[in-house]
Amino acid sequence: MTPNTRIFDGHNDVLTRIFKAGGIGAADGFIIGQDGHIDLPKARMGDFGGGFFAIWIPTAEELDDDFSAMESEQYDIPLPEAVDATDAIQIALEQAAILFRLEELGALKVCVTTAELRDCLERGKLAAILHMEGAEAIDPELHALDVFYRAGLRSIGPVWSRPTIFGEGVPFRYPGSPDTGGGLTELGFDLVRRCNALRIMIDLSHITERGFWDVAEHSTQPLVATHSNAHAICPHVRNLTDRQLEAIAQSDGMVGVNFAAAFLREDGRMIDDVPLEQMLRHFDHLLNILGEDRVGFGTDFDGAVVPKAITDASGLPALTEAMRKHGYDEVLMTKLCHRNWLRVLQKTWGA
Ligand code: ZN
Repeated sequence: MTPNTRIFDGHNDVLTRIFKAGGIGAADGFIIGQDGHIDLPKARMGDFGGGFFAIWIPTAEELDDDFSAMESEQYDIPLPEAVDATDAIQIALEQAAILFRLEELGALKVCVTTAELRDCLERGKLAAILHMEGAEAIDPELHALDVFYRAGLRSIGPVWSRPTIFGEGVPFRYPGSPDTGGGLTELGFDLVRRCNALRIMIDLSHITERGFWDVAEHSTQPLVATHSNAHAICPHVRNLTDRQLEAIAQSDGMVGVNFAAAFLREDGRMIDDVPLEQMLRHFDHLLNILGEDRVGFGTDFDGAVVPKAITDASGLPALTEAMRKHGYDEVLMTKLCHRNWLRVLQKTWGA
């Protein structure tokens, strides 16, 4: 039996962190401990059971993790330009190779079925889903999608917060509506069809509202946003409106609660002074609209400024304790911590 509050998580950027720290040669840091939110020692301390490990393509100016522009009372950071496909494929291959290196080192297991995920969670082995945050590395003919699928890719966001040949993401803007730009392109519809055929999960975090409705109308899968919060509580463009949440509920999909301060705080500022009660407000709001079976975690570890009450993966028990005190019973805790992710992945993957 898996411990009730072992956490399976919708999003982390640890592959990007290792990539920036020097690439495959820096993978050992994950085992012995490294700067940042997730490594093996911190995962063990916090009962972090694994999650979606994102391939993400940085652009030159983003290499420093500079969130200072998002500390202001309002901001509207221009959408970065599309990334060159040749650069993207090279970086995507390297980040996938980093994940496989971590598996080789015994740090985790790359899982492609929910049976494998469940087994890892029960044994206390870190479980990883290979995920792509933004489809920059996928060519118009989708050959790369087929190849990455064979390499274990089971989840993809058509866009990060920038345009791709498939659609457009929302900028980092506060306050604002997620209706910031165009929907899926013709190639974007092709991508959705192919993902449906291969049963690759489509992640709607970062996509424009129009893109969201395009996927909602055409995808045969449950709608999933791996790391987004409630717009009704924090009106950031990265968060989901109640209408979007209702569509996710109708499709029997789910949302992972994002720990990024800017998407939690009512004032949208990326500063780590966030009481745990503010996180509980997002959980409560999502639970109200989505129901108990459609909410989970989407930490954004190693990709955001997170509440100092948590700090990193080793601090997760502070949150689970606050959730229990808030009145969430053990059945609900298990659902939020991992069971709901397993449920929606089983529906999506069929295995
Ligand atoms: Zn993200």
